[in-house]
Amino acid sequence: MAKRIQFTAQGGPEVLQWVDVDPADPAEHEVQVENRAIGINFIDTYVRSGLYPVPALPSGLGTEAAGVVKRVGSAVTRFKPGDRVVYCQAALGAYSELHNVAEDRLMPLPDAISFEQAAASFLKGLTVHYLLRQTYQVKPDETFLFHAAAGGVGLIACQWAKALGAHLIGTVGSAEKAKLAKEAGAWATINYREENIAERVSQLTNGKKVAVVYDSVGKDTWEASLDSLRRQGLMVSFGNASGPVTGVNLGILNQKGSLFVTRPSLYGYITNREELEHASNDLFSLLASGAIKVEVPEQQKFPLKEAERAHRSLENRSTQGSSLLIP
Ligand code: NDP
Repeated sequence: MAKRIQFTAQGGPEVLQWVDVDPADPAEHEVQVENRAIGINFIDTYVRSGLYPVPALPSGLGTEAAGVVKRVGSAVTRFKPGDRVVYCQAALGAYSELHNVAEDRLMPLPDAISFEQAAASFLKGLTVHYLLRQTYQVKPDETFLFHAAAGGVGLIACQWAKALGAHLIGTVGSAEKAKLAKEAGAWATINYREENIAERVSQLTNGKKVAVVYDSVGKDTWEASLDSLRRQGLMVSFGNASGPVTGVNLGILNQKGSLFVTRPSLYGYITNREELEHASNDLFSLLASGAIKVEVPEQQKFPLKEAERAHRSLENRSTQGSSLLIP
């Protein structure tokens, strides 16, 4: 038997249950991974709450982890028992001691990167990779706006921007988070609980505003994000931490300066093995060189069975950087 977190109805953090399961044998092209560290992502709260649908109930939760290969399916060629690996995928169920993952979704984990570092940075780092390198290619010396800069994705974005020589203006919810974002490489911060975002962006850019805004906060920042863009700027709406953006009249893009909007997701950018390997290798080299560091505070390493408590802290904005579940 193995333990996992599951839910039989979508809802608040209290729907998460700690149960025994009989792990299935890995299918032909699957690898059974003994998870050592599991990444917690805000998307897990959307899946649990019902904002995003699930294929069936009861459902597992979680989409990324790092661990050791325990068993392999009969047609698996790339991995063998004992290998260190990391994965992220759209399929749910990573909040578990053992998880069967398609061979194609796994990456070998370089020795220089610990299980905790990997689980704290894989999905989030691949996200920053496509946002800053593909959705819009941020250039050296370019100034741009990135919301929730002291969150899991945010602290990686601050460091990646610094490595690119770009100027990230990060929004944050407290003075302590502002300090963290600055230390990670943000060029400037805006406390959006106290300051007017668009006015501050305008001041910081001498009235020019920015060509791209990365917005994962959603409902609460939508309008301010558009107001921070210069003519023909690009709004990258990639998350809903404060709730989804709905009921938009497209005319607003015309009124605010012929703007562009995109609503991307990681699995629209990583669609095959080649794309996974390319993005992972970029991320691994930044992690191995120390250009990107992920340090998870001890109080944000939750025992797997305490996923409910972990979700409460993420949703009430008391976390900084990444959080982990430890089986
Ligand atoms: P974070 O660690 O960034 O946590 C979310 C942060 O959002 C909070 O810490 C908080 O920071 C800020 N926030 C602002 N308003 C609210 C609110 N009303 N409720 C809760 N939090 C709020 O999470 P992740 O790093 O896991 O993810 C960041 C975002 O990126 C999420 O929206 C997620 O959905 C999105 N994402 C999108 C992907 C994609 O491909 N589209 C892939 C991965 C993540 P503060 O206190 O500073 O305001």
